[in-house]
Amino acid sequence: MALVPMSRLLTHARQHAYAVGYFESWNMESMLGVIDAAEQMESPVIIGFNGGFIGHEDRIVTENIYYYAGLGRAVASHANVPVAFIFNEADNVPLLVKALKAGFNVIMHDHESCTFEESIEVNKYLVGIAHAQDAEVEAEIGLLPAVDMATNTMTAGENTDPDEAEDFVRQTDVDALAIAVGNVHMLEGQKKSSLYMDLVETLSKKVSVPLVLHGGTGVDEHDLKEAIKLGIAKVNVGTILRRTFIDALKGYYLSREVDTLDPNDVTSKGGEMDMLVFARRAITGEVIRMMNLFGSIKKASLFT
Ligand SMILES: [Zn+2]
Repeated sequence: MALVPMSRLLTHARQHAYAVGYFESWNMESMLGVIDAAEQMESPVIIGFNGGFIGHEDRIVTENIYYYAGLGRAVASHANVPVAFIFNEADNVPLLVKALKAGFNVIMHDHESCTFEESIEVNKYLVGIAHAQDAEVEAEIGLLPAVDMATNTMTAGENTDPDEAEDFVRQTDVDALAIAVGNVHMLEGQKKSSLYMDLVETLSKKVSVPLVLHGGTGVDEHDLKEAIKLGIAKVNVGTILRRTFIDALKGYYLSREVDTLDPNDVTSKGGEMDMLVFARRAITGEVIRMMNLFGSIKKASLFT
């Protein structure tokens, strides 16, 4: 199966009462770990990169997003499961437009510094460009609180207002809407966020496009399953994959005398001693665990 529009994946997910995971990547191994999981589990999947990170002004090396787009397009077109490919959460509008040109088939604007009206204007503009080339736009109404690990504090959020959400989708014609319903960005560890189920239910009745839950890492698992039953069609997972990658590499280094090993075995040959394979397989394991929660396993074969 090749690259497919994300809206087709999400409509299918709603029809069959599951959610599609967006498992965010940052390099080749992290993306391959995701697609390995999707193929092994016969699950539809959304792959992609964080546009806010790739385009971040503090990056030491300015990235060429065409490299990232080329990788994702190749993965999607050779995978045997349906795949959508997103450039997630960038506040840089020209970069979002460039991402469409480069080959991502979904983009999402980070609206954190925008008013409601500004966000409507930006998204109308992006939808116009995206739809003209068979690509799509995800947007967000409301604001997720976010954990700042350096200071161990949490930024303030704002729950999604159902009337605003309905109005926004009608005015902009976006293809999917992320909502703030108690979910938190970058929440790790034992503490889990609980969701306002009444709000999820209201939003899924009011909003005409599929709903998205960001902050999938930190949501209570019971609540996650309930929210999917009520109408969440896409769940974003990022932080836990990064943590899994770090932990795998840490475990690798702590259990081996790396200085005594052949560098070709450690980085290049893809065998049991290859640290990148080690990290890639750890990601695959975590993605499979999340796909089980989302109910997306074996759903690829139902997709036509
Ligand atoms: Zn997010």
